[in-house]
Amino acid sequence: MNSPVGTDVVEAARLLSTGGVVAIPTETVYGLAAVARDADAVRRVYTVKGRPLDHPLIVHVASEEAAREWAATWPPVADALAEHFWPGPLTLIVERAEFVPDHVTGGRSTVALRVPDHPMALELLERVADGVAAPSANRFGRVSPTTAEHVLNDLGNDVDYVLDGGSCDIGLESTIVDCSVDPPQILRPGGVATEDIEAVVKTLAPTSGPSRAPGMLPGHYAPDCRVVLREHDGPPVSGPSGRARFLDASVDPSSFARTMYANMRDADRDGVETLVITLPAPRGIGLAIRDRLRKAAAGR
Ligand code: AMP
Ligand code: MG
Repeated sequence: MNSPVGTDVVEAARLLSTGGVVAIPTETVYGLAAVARDADAVRRVYTVKGRPLDHPLIVHVASEEAAREWAATWPPVADALAEHFWPGPLTLIVERAEFVPDHVTGGRSTVALRVPDHPMALELLERVADGVAAPSANRFGRVSPTTAEHVLNDLGNDVDYVLDGGSCDIGLESTIVDCSVDPPQILRPGGVATEDIEAVVKTLAPTSGPSRAPGMLPGHYAPDCRVVLREHDGPPVSGPSGRARFLDASVDPSSFARTMYANMRDADRDGVETLVITLPAPRGIGLAIRDRLRKAAAGR
């Protein structure tokens, strides 16, 4: 028996407000949502996912105004980025307000905040009128779900409701910008292109080094099959072993992103042994795709 699935936002909001755990659509990937201040509900999210407890969660809110309540200070750079990209696939890290619980931040002094760009998610957040923690709605170690069906395949009957908002428009996770440091730093490339962030924040710290976002493990982005990558102007991959499937991310990176995780799931379902993928150019959404594919190729 699977969890109930539907488009009833009122019911989803009611379930969340009474301590429930609900899978929700966003423009990036499906989230496994719980009211962030509700320690028991958030604990259930970790249990259902099988996720280590020290991985911090992103708190989803309906507006910049609501986000500010979760922050101790709201630096001008957060203001500018929120103004440009919210609602949208951008997560901002800021110093947390005093009330923000450790089970959300993994004990850090900072909190991650996002206003998602999905009509159902926004209506839900307005109804709940509180921050909602929502990591991706997959079991730990599986690729992110981008349809309600993916959620059911992973989580079965372990959630109270799956709010079906169709296929995710972007298909990969949000860009994370740490605004708690000066200059700010992109911790994870994602749905908002680095160039677009740079156009708003003139000075950014380089994205390399030890300060990468915590809890980002290669296995998060890897299917079971082997992933082999090639540059679009590089040599072809010679004689991949076993049953191979070929995908090209270089022609239309945005539409590739939309179905990237679905394609990985399909490859596993179909018993593909090697997925050969042509990389997109390292610009725009291509940077985030390359980041995820590199991790997928590194395996678990
Ligand atoms: P997601 O995988 O989209 O659910 O995003 C969760 C990721 O956001 C975590 O694995 C961290 O990389 C990042 N994150 C969340 N909160 C924080 C924080 N306070 N400081 C740094 N990174 C964070
Ligand atoms: Mg995830």
